Amino acid sequence: MNLHEYQAKSLFADYGIAVPQGQAVSSPKEARAAAQGLGGDTWVVKAQAHTGGRGKAGGVRLAHSLDEVEAAAGEILGMTLITNQTGPQGLPVNSVLVEQGSKIAQELYLGALLDRARSRIAFMASAAGGMNIEEVAAETPEKILTTVVNPATGMLPFQCRKLAYGLGLSGDQIKQFSKIMMALYRLYREKDVSLIEINPLIITDAKALMALDAKINLDGNALYRHQPLLALRDITQEDKKEAAAAQHDLNYITLDGNIGCMVNGAGLAMATMDMVKLHGGEPANFLDVGGTTTAERVTEAFKLILSDNKVKSVLVNIFGGIVRCDLIAEGIITAARSIGVTLPVVVRLEGTNAEQGLQMLASSGVDFITAHDFTEAAKKAVAAAA
Ligand code: GDP
Ligand code: MN
Repeated sequence: MNLHEYQAKSLFADYGIAVPQGQAVSSPKEARAAAQGLGGDTWVVKAQAHTGGRGKAGGVRLAHSLDEVEAAAGEILGMTLITNQTGPQGLPVNSVLVEQGSKIAQELYLGALLDRARSRIAFMASAAGGMNIEEVAAETPEKILTTVVNPATGMLPFQCRKLAYGLGLSGDQIKQFSKIMMALYRLYREKDVSLIEINPLIITDAKALMALDAKINLDGNALYRHQPLLALRDITQEDKKEAAAAQHDLNYITLDGNIGCMVNGAGLAMATMDMVKLHGGEPANFLDVGGTTTAERVTEAFKLILSDNKVKSVLVNIFGGIVRCDLIAEGIITAARSIGVTLPVVVRLEGTNAEQGLQMLASSGVDFITAHDFTEAAKKAVAAAA
């Protein structure tokens, strides 16, 4: 789960990391009032959407008067922000963060993520922070410094100093940098973060370090341990089909192909996508309807698959272990009738009461294409989509 910048900055503040004074609002009038309340003579108005690259896409504006704040908020609120990270459909902007403007002497980068190859948290820092960090990483990777944390010892102060020296910091800035890095590590561990970034981490004209931007991705599998963080979820920023799927406990991920897949069990779902590809097709989605499939969930799963207009055929691949295939068949028939499925639907049932289930499908009056084995089912689905 991703957080908005203002939410991430609020966590930063809890952990003692300096951030600009600011307020998230959802109307131009509120933006004006927020700026007035903050005081000063320069403000920045920032689109709150789950993406980076906002600056380059017109989602970050400097304002030098309250009128300019209000106007900038008016332009940004309601826009569809399309950045190099969102894809062409972009993301809606329903709130802006109004902050006191900061005077920047230098833009650094500091981030941490799970290094899966090493099974450890890795910190990265660069003196070339700011809006072009992706190019820096791609073209001059030697400008990115890395240190990996040993979980037995936790982050050690020398690791912070090593990066600080590498960035060319000196004196009190080394202390400030170390404090920020230690706080990020603590935050990472305590909140089950999967990615955390400060870009830019600025050195102000008063030589103080401050987080001007904040990005946090939380580990979705650990969210159950963090009820207060769950409340920060913003489903307007998520894929609509995936959000609807989550509501029905369906494990669904949109893909680019044209064969809709409905499968029970994540392993079988993976194998089904492989089989479809092996026979020259492309899956339109990953969908695990779970081990305890009911007619209602099969119906919801069908609706999801069919709401994707790329889909040209549907492959239902169910192994009846805990669930009985006759119950699944009943679910499929009910769903197909109630939604009025017009696409070719290939069904492969195997396991408990498979024969009975296949017979029910055959005599249902709905035009299902049945298959008994996996290869045959995949071939038929690929042929039907072509
Ligand atoms: P991103 O483009 O989505 O990563 O958004 P950022 O929050 O990183 O902002 C983009 C850029 O806007 C930063 O790299 C800064 O150069 C600039 N910026 C943001 N806030 C301020 C500010 O308070 N003062 C100044 N001068 N520039 C700012
Ligand atoms: Mn940024």
